[in-house]
Amino acid sequence: MRELNGIPAAPGYAVGPVRQLRRTTITIPRRSIATGDVATERTRFEEAVERARGELTILRDKLARELGADEAAIIDSQLLMLEDELIWDSTLSRIRTQLVNAEAAFARAIGELVMQFDGMQEGALRERIADLRDLEDRVLRSLQGEPKETVTDWTVPAVVAARDLAPSETAALDRELVLGFITDEGGSTSHVAILARSLGIPAVCGLGGDASKLADDSLVAVDGNVGRVICDPDQTTQERLQTLKHQQITVSRKLDYLRDLPAETPDGHRVRMMANIELPVELDEAIARGAEGIGLLRTEYLYFQHRDIPTEEDQVKLYARVLQRMAGKPVIFRTLDVGGDKVSDYLGAKREYNPFLGWRGIRFSLSNRSLFKTQIRAIYRAAADGEGKIMFPMITGVEELRAALEICAEARDELRGEGRPYRSDMPVGIMVETPSAAAVADLLARECDFLSIGSNDLIQYTLAMDRGNRRVSYLYRPLHPAILRTIRHVVDAGHAAGVWVGLCGEMGSETRLAEVLLGLGLDEISLHSAALPKIKQVIRWTELAEARRVVDGLLDLPTADEADAWLADYVAARKARREQEGSSP
Ligand code: PEP
Ligand code: MG
Repeated sequence: MRELNGIPAAPGYAVGPVRQLRRTTITIPRRSIATGDVATERTRFEEAVERARGELTILRDKLARELGADEAAIIDSQLLMLEDELIWDSTLSRIRTQLVNAEAAFARAIGELVMQFDGMQEGALRERIADLRDLEDRVLRSLQGEPKETVTDWTVPAVVAARDLAPSETAALDRELVLGFITDEGGSTSHVAILARSLGIPAVCGLGGDASKLADDSLVAVDGNVGRVICDPDQTTQERLQTLKHQQITVSRKLDYLRDLPAETPDGHRVRMMANIELPVELDEAIARGAEGIGLLRTEYLYFQHRDIPTEEDQVKLYARVLQRMAGKPVIFRTLDVGGDKVSDYLGAKREYNPFLGWRGIRFSLSNRSLFKTQIRAIYRAAADGEGKIMFPMITGVEELRAALEICAEARDELRGEGRPYRSDMPVGIMVETPSAAAVADLLARECDFLSIGSNDLIQYTLAMDRGNRRVSYLYRPLHPAILRTIRHVVDAGHAAGVWVGLCGEMGSETRLAEVLLGLGLDEISLHSAALPKIKQVIRWTELAEARRVVDGLLDLPTADEADAWLADYVAARKARREQEGSSP
């Protein structure tokens, strides 16, 4: 048995044989041509692009049928690349001036773009490279009369391994034959991760060279929840993962009855249970799990799906569709949170030495005023007849909040002047995810309508541990006294100012922490839909007074280790008690 650790990209478990998706390399014939052949080469190129467009359109339609229009937009971005003037100009001028054949000219044009993207490194730019390479391969094959290979050439369900996967490749796979994805490249924002989550297929990305080295048919166990791949798992490991997989399915069915019941403690305290989503395709799952609304819509993913910045009209349509689907339930649109690990080439967020301390979230939006205002206008317009709310990421102090609110006021004035319908009284809140925002939560709460604690970043910044760095991941300790104290302080500050306080980080999905969040006084918990019923169940079992005692007990402890151990004992005792009462959690 050998363990490979990567980035958890889509949750779930799988055990099965590896199937490598190796692109059969295509050789690029290079020929000099006579001046008289320029027109012929040009036509060959145009026809090859046309055929590639046809193939991609078929794939796009397949994806649209299976997943919906939003996911299909991933292929649209490749179709748009096919129209790219830079690629066309560069290819055609090479044919004309350097007198080379279409294959050589096109491969050079793509090569140059790849070099530019590669120089910038990481994040969404790297994902664009995979798109470009896929396009190159498709057009070169078309030039040589070879169809792009059909990728699902196996008959037994398998774990698909690859260096990287282009969206078109992911889309072309037969879903029934894919148990999981494991890739060398990519992270949680890569297209394969987004698609895998939408398809409900576990995925581990960022295995740094190990995924593509695995032999075909070798057995692997994939744990998409923690980002681990176990090679040649022994019988016990295989059984453990299969059990976890079945447990996940059984538990989720058993908890179906909770769907329409409130997250209310036996002593009558209500907590709102909301869902975090990246893409509209996740809405059905959120509704099916009983979400009372969307507590965090990470709008940057909607941008990442497009090659160009979506226009105001595009955004209005998108946001309005989400609100309509939620049928009167609230949706919190978090404004763009690019930067950090979420870099997008066309938005101009570049790789930085300290990306998480750099040009990120609200900083990026405030220095891209017109882009920011377009988004704000779109949210106001889309929410004309819906329960929309706006939330700003990465706020560090009142200046930023005021600057963002000023843009909201400008947007409202403009919309009023233009006579467009918009929601004039839309609540506007902030994420509390930096230690400085937490420290001045009382001041911030006086100037906005709600606070939502982003525990992923709050833990990263408070404990000075890069959330994407595996070497320091052991420092991710939600029960560290600094975190517990900070959350308590933020909740108290928000309540003293008369605003509600929620939490929308991963901490909200940990069952063992449900009482803790309840006892800390949070009004709303927003989490992955799959985890929602379990957390709701714990809340429905726990008296608020008991949860408060749990928090008091934890706040007394000086270290995260002691707090973890104390809580583990408490959870075990609770379980035993429930079992005795005949209803185990
Ligand atoms: C967070 O930081 O906790 C959060 C919810 O936002 P994101 O994970 O998108 O940074
Ligand atoms: Mg965050």
